[in-house]
Amino acid sequence: MALMVRNYIDGRWVAGSGPTFDSINPSTGQVLASAPVSGAEEVASAVAAARRAFDHGGWRWRKGSDRAGALLALADLLESRIHTISTLIACEMGKPVRVNRAREVEGAVDKLRYFAGAARMLEGRVTGVTIPEIWDMELPEPVGVAALIIPWNDPVDLAVRKLGAALAAGCTTVMKSSEITPASTAALIDAVHDCDAFPPGVVNLLHGPGEPTGNALVGSPGVDKISFTGSTATGIAIMRRAAERLAKVSLECGGKLPALIFPDADLERCLDAVTFGAFMYSGQSCTACTRLIVHRSIHDKVVEGVVSRSRELSIGDPLDPSVLVGPMASRRQYDKSVQYIRLGLEEGGQTALGGLPREPGQSLYLEPTVLIDLPPEGRVAREEVFGPVLAVYRFDSEEEALALANNTPYGLGGSIWTQDISRALKMARRLDVADIWINTHYIRNVETSFGGRHLSGIGRELGMAGVESYLSWKRLCIDTRSSFHLKEWVESSPGESR
Ligand code: NAD
Repeated sequence: MALMVRNYIDGRWVAGSGPTFDSINPSTGQVLASAPVSGAEEVASAVAAARRAFDHGGWRWRKGSDRAGALLALADLLESRIHTISTLIACEMGKPVRVNRAREVEGAVDKLRYFAGAARMLEGRVTGVTIPEIWDMELPEPVGVAALIIPWNDPVDLAVRKLGAALAAGCTTVMKSSEITPASTAALIDAVHDCDAFPPGVVNLLHGPGEPTGNALVGSPGVDKISFTGSTATGIAIMRRAAERLAKVSLECGGKLPALIFPDADLERCLDAVTFGAFMYSGQSCTACTRLIVHRSIHDKVVEGVVSRSRELSIGDPLDPSVLVGPMASRRQYDKSVQYIRLGLEEGGQTALGGLPREPGQSLYLEPTVLIDLPPEGRVAREEVFGPVLAVYRFDSEEEALALANNTPYGLGGSIWTQDISRALKMARRLDVADIWINTHYIRNVETSFGGRHLSGIGRELGMAGVESYLSWKRLCIDTRSSFHLKEWVESSPGESR
């Protein structure tokens, strides 16, 4: 029987009054959960609850250690539910338990503990150059009500990146789940409710698609900051809307990550990593490795190595603990990937592995595809697929490698594979992306911030920079002198600095 997922508003689970939508198990095609399409009324009610909790509820004035205690309580409860939640994610979006348990749910628990520490580390500044009697300071204050809009590919971890940081900073929140994964994100908020550590209104959750739900949330005058993760097109639409009232915005958007592979690379390690980086949960990750940019002398060897490793990936039921690659999360994502494979072939690409499915649409499983001989100026070279499609390009010189790597409107990340540290650092400087790995792919730590350049986004998440993105700075200047009179000073000593 399908799960009935509700909104969470002002500390209570609330059934919607209007239409509902279903999330589908992509492995079986069966309805997994039913959730409300939240309209203007529900959005207004959630934002009003968050507004009250921010303006009058006291969460923002609590000591950092109190906010930390609440986040730790949530982390402990979430940890006790890891098995249930990773099973739910596998069923709702097809990400295998083998990958989602460690990378998603355990990762989310760890992040909450980090953010608990961060709540005790927020610091202001006192300017050090004034005369001793003047105290000139900058105070960090929470920015207010934060709208947290997330995609489906990490429905718990991406939610925690935003929620943990916003709560540590003292904000109150209204989260909107993805229409593909409402039940998975609701399981996180269930833990928020059950741990009983957050006052009503501090955390709210709405379900529904971009239109009407996301749009109403973004347009709500009660929202001070919008933190969004999702596609670049939606990010741009949100930023336009937010500009109307100068609401603060952070955007974590799409990517098109290259791996630059030089002849002196440790190929065994490199091929293992890029194969995993390209096809782990079917390439449905913003930092998936999507383009191999390979020195001509090792091109064929690299293609062979990736193809043979990809053939060994276990594909199948995401609940099977040996499986690494499950189905595509949705019909939309499946169709989009198939369209890009077709486009790649039309652009002149050759299939080294996979290709168009023999029985398209029979299931949402899509074989890993490796395309070679694609034109670097083609659309497949420049656009985000967000599926199991890896394109391989050749280069002769470092300049050519950089030109190929930088030939997209995105700037999220990339990896460089060489034993020559000078070359690696030179390439890292000139690769026009915000997140670079040398001789690895996919390692991420909550302590280090993350974000994108160009069409990959604006702002940082994780690390202290991620928490600070939920702060607003207030300047406070105190003159402790009784002898100094501003009016007399202005009238008597023009130009003199105090
Ligand atoms: P999407 O843009 O379709 O949707 C993301 C979220 O925005 C969903 O909750 C959706 O309902 C909501 N939304 C849609 N239209 C809206 C509107 N007009 N106003 C407000 N909200 C709206 O993206 P998706 O398909 O869910 O996710 C895949 C994308 O996310 C990929 O492009 C991927 O690269 C990106 N992503 C980026 C990162 C990162 O950290 N940079 C991480 C994960 C995913």
